Amino acid sequence: MSQTIAPVLGEATIQELREAVRGEVLTAQDDGHAEACKIWNGAHDDRRPALVVRCTGAADVIAAIGFARSNRLAVAVRGGGHSVAGFSTCDGGIVIDLSRMNSVRVDPENPTATVGGGAVWADVDHETQAHGLATTGGLVSSTGVAGFTLGGGIGWLMRNYGLACDNLLAADVVIADGRLVRASETENPELLWGLRGGGGNFGIVTQFELQLHAVGPMVYAGPIFYAADAARDLLHAFRTWAGNAPDEITGIVNLTTAPPLPVIPEEWHGKKVAALIAVSSGQLDEGDSLVSEFRTIAEPIADLLGPMPYTVIQSLIDPLWPKGIQSYFKATNLSGLDDELIDRLTALHLAAPGPQCEIHVHQMGGAVARVGEQATAFADRSMPFVLNAVTGWHDSAAGTAHRDWARAVIDAAGNASTGRAYVNFLGDTDAARSSYGDETYARLVALKDEYDPSNVFRLNQNIEPSTAGS
Ligand SMILES: Cc1cc2nc3c(=O)[nH]c(=O)nc-3n(C[C@H](O)[C@H](O)[C@H](O)COP(=O)(O)OP(=O)(O)OC[C@H]3O[C@@H](n4cnc5c(N)ncnc54)[C@H](O)[C@@H]3O)c2cc1C
Repeated sequence: MSQTIAPVLGEATIQELREAVRGEVLTAQDDGHAEACKIWNGAHDDRRPALVVRCTGAADVIAAIGFARSNRLAVAVRGGGHSVAGFSTCDGGIVIDLSRMNSVRVDPENPTATVGGGAVWADVDHETQAHGLATTGGLVSSTGVAGFTLGGGIGWLMRNYGLACDNLLAADVVIADGRLVRASETENPELLWGLRGGGGNFGIVTQFELQLHAVGPMVYAGPIFYAADAARDLLHAFRTWAGNAPDEITGIVNLTTAPPLPVIPEEWHGKKVAALIAVSSGQLDEGDSLVSEFRTIAEPIADLLGPMPYTVIQSLIDPLWPKGIQSYFKATNLSGLDDELIDRLTALHLAAPGPQCEIHVHQMGGAVARVGEQATAFADRSMPFVLNAVTGWHDSAAGTAHRDWARAVIDAAGNASTGRAYVNFLGDTDAARSSYGDETYARLVALKDEYDPSNVFRLNQNIEPSTAGS
């Protein structure tokens, strides 16, 4: 269980850190430490960092990194705390928690937002929608901007406006030696390249500058639910539709279990269902025509696809994925969705071990695919679909069955898997090299050698510096 600070750090040493920062420093002796150790994924609730530092600004981040280096502490960096693999907590080390640094400033004239390194998407959407603006954010609004954007960022606006990382214009970054540097097209451009998909490997981003676009306040969006026996027809229709749909709409098929929501007829609660969820940021009155084929494949259980506020679709599924649920994701990029794969996925859907076992098939393409393969560290862009097996459970004894099922879903992709995956959708901790591919990985290693040669930032999908171990 807990590794207390006593054997490692003296009280006088901790006191130096308390005096050096304006934020809170929590040790195992402080009230609130146990809660501060926890992240969104309850499967990591047993982790006990020696210290959690709740930073209030870049100066606190600099002090925390200096302290960690002097005392040889493992460093976990926390933005929104949604790391499925558990990277934003640790045992015995220090958590540098930016959650208080969640300010968002919008410039409506030159539509951009300046966003604190600990903001979550709900913070951004609230401020930007006041001006009818938005940028690609997460499907759950409590997800952090930082980890999401630095890993890539798959969201409803991506086919129109690119991944979140494609909208990253500049960043302020505290690097491993404690310097605050700027990454932009003109200052340290190679660092900006690495921050666009290379994750938290190169430093702690204290501020993001994001491109905004005219979106909402109303969009054409929402889910259509069908009985599970329509899943095959839905995936066949989705496969064809996905290749032809205009960029303003982004869709996903979710093979899942009907949640007990009032909008779904009660007799379906807890039963296996297939859903299409889509969001169009185009003209509201064109929405119906963009999805008409889905209205004929089967009688829907509930058809909630229509005009709704952008902030509503952005937070619609939040209650289904609360903090503390135990979770595991596994994913792969797909080169296609052949009939055999559709059959395997529909069979695995029926074999799911719990109600929060979801098979997501994301439609890709559009603006995501128009960015060059080497233009950002998010290298693999040609895939038409991303397959993500998402699981959640409450009883720890159910963990193995859920993880095994998610792995079976991804294994089922077989030859349709490109062998590459999006790092933010991986619940395992050692997948960086295969996710990025050799060319991008080598460029990331060169960047790591420059900015973090001793691998201070290693709790992530880690890019190992070439100097590691030497
Ligand atoms: C419920 C849920 C829904 C999700 N939905 C989506 C989705 O729709 N689309 C999608 O693409 N992904 C999604 N994800 C995955 C998500 O993108 C990643 O989990 C992401 O890492 C979360 O970012 P965070 O800041 O909340 O995470 P944290 O756990 O705080 O951080 C994760 C990692 O990011 C890095 N990091 C965090 N903050 C900073 C910082 N300020 N500077 C430098 N590095 C930092 C660190 O390496 C850290 O270990 C979802 C995850 C969950 C749990």
